[in-house]
Amino acid sequence: MEMVKALLDGSKKVVVLTGAGVSAESGVPTFRGRDGLWKTHRPEDLARPDAFAMNPELVWEFYNWRRDLVGKCEPNPAHLALAEMERHIPNFLLITQNVDGLHAAAGSRKYLEMHGSLWQLKCTKCTHARDDRSDLPPMPECPVCGHLLRPGVVWFGEPLIPGVLKLAIAQISSADVFISVGTSNLVQPAASFYQLAREHGAVTVEVNLEPTANTGFMDFAMHGKAGEILPELVTGLSE
Ligand code: NAD
Ligand code: ZN
Repeated sequence: MEMVKALLDGSKKVVVLTGAGVSAESGVPTFRGRDGLWKTHRPEDLARPDAFAMNPELVWEFYNWRRDLVGKCEPNPAHLALAEMERHIPNFLLITQNVDGLHAAAGSRKYLEMHGSLWQLKCTKCTHARDDRSDLPPMPECPVCGHLLRPGVVWFGEPLIPGVLKLAIAQISSADVFISVGTSNLVQPAASFYQLAREHGAVTVEVNLEPTANTGFMDFAMHGKAGEILPELVTGLSE
């Protein structure tokens, strides 16, 4: 802990990657955790374009359930600690795979939502897109063209939002410190970000409940709850 703390002085460029584990203590289920299943479905089987094409009603039911659940969740000490880190480290970027909006709710501003947001809606036909936190009908329609709307998230098997990967790669390549928090490191390309950071000379740190496939390759690994480890990491950070 003390050695990692020492890395976080204000002169360093710090890039943090977060995954579903950072929101677990807020009550948002991870995909691969114990409460991962929705009804009898694996979320990975629903968060995909082919599932939506085949059964949009079921996929929308899943997303409306997630919007309802996440809408009741609040940021936890891990989100708050990352917002605090941003305030103390001028050269900072948070890259999140999460779609729950909890980093913004905790006060983070320098964040990149790699996989979009649950709160965004996009038309499946025209360019209509909007942020909307209201309760939606089972099959929400585009107010412009009447076609079906879809959640503004990046599904498994879909490309990332244009420009996002390029920006993430540029930022990670120039980082002095790369910290991965609460991600199982099974979803690409994020799972390989630590390699990129390493190749460019960054010190790499993992914070996760348990070891992951990447643990052995990290310079430091801290295992435990993100909501306990991160607040400790930011205590005593100077301006
Ligand atoms: P994942 O579900 O594959 O893995 C979560 C990881 O977090 C696990 O390794 C687990 O050990 C760890 N974890 C659980 N509780 C923790 C805690 N309290 N502290 C620290 N670590 C903890 O999640 P992933 O790697 O982010 O990949 C899943 C994909 O699904 C992502 O691409 C993401 O877009 C999406 N997803 C998002 C959310 C969300 O927005 N909150 C939730 C589920 C899935
Ligand atoms: Zn439309």
